[in-house]
Amino acid sequence: MRINVLGVGFDNLTMAEAVDRGMELLHSPGAHYVVTPNPEIVEVCRENPEANKAVNGADLVLPDGIGVIKGAAMLGTPLKERTPGIEFAAHLMERMAKEGLSLYLLGAKPGVAELAAKKLQEKYPGLKIAGTHDGYFKEDAPVVDAIRESGADAVFVCLGAPKQEFWMVKNGEATGAHLLCGLGGSLDVFAGTVERAPKFFCDHGLEWFYRLCKEPRRIGRMMKLPLFLIHVSKEKKK
Ligand code: UDP
Repeated sequence: MRINVLGVGFDNLTMAEAVDRGMELLHSPGAHYVVTPNPEIVEVCRENPEANKAVNGADLVLPDGIGVIKGAAMLGTPLKERTPGIEFAAHLMERMAKEGLSLYLLGAKPGVAELAAKKLQEKYPGLKIAGTHDGYFKEDAPVVDAIRESGADAVFVCLGAPKQEFWMVKNGEATGAHLLCGLGGSLDVFAGTVERAPKFFCDHGLEWFYRLCKEPRRIGRMMKLPLFLIHVSKEKKK
């Protein structure tokens, strides 16, 4: 059963369990998709019923941010642990490499996915990169065709939320891949064009603060975090 945090149902899994589940989905017939909402996305889902449907309709809903873990605990229904999308992706690639499976990288600015592909291939020998495409295209069909023709087993869809969730719902089946993962800005990190916060910040639940210092323009988006905590407090009082 999923744990409900302000209308988004999260799977209560450890990272190891989440990766096992991801691999199971990868080996199951049909297309499956994974989402990794943070408090900002939960707030988007509260306001946008279509986004809510796309997020809750995922086969795996993993809590990306420390805020979701805190929110779930405040509501008296704690989640086992934080399972950030980027770490889930890293573990998944490790497993895929062992099995010689193939991955398509979709999203980010032109050139970023290619650079990420090069770095990931070095880091995970055995992983096949089936192809790459930037995230600034006008029509879905040529991109879907390219993925299908590549024969990719999995696709990392990195278009930002909720665009990537809508994209996976609409096009998942047609790509022919068995697993699609919505991973926001992960390709920028894999390519090395954006740095992930140092370990100290990640370990202390301060990744958001590090990102805010690096990219102050995120302030508008990040104001959703206190709003999320206010909504959780209100929900708790009910
Ligand atoms: N992006 C994209 N196409 C778009 C809009 C965004 O490929 O139409 C990419 C953008 O270049 C970035 C990622 O989506 O690589 C979103 O990053 P963001 O930091 O907003 O996502 P987060 O990790 O916070 O979810």
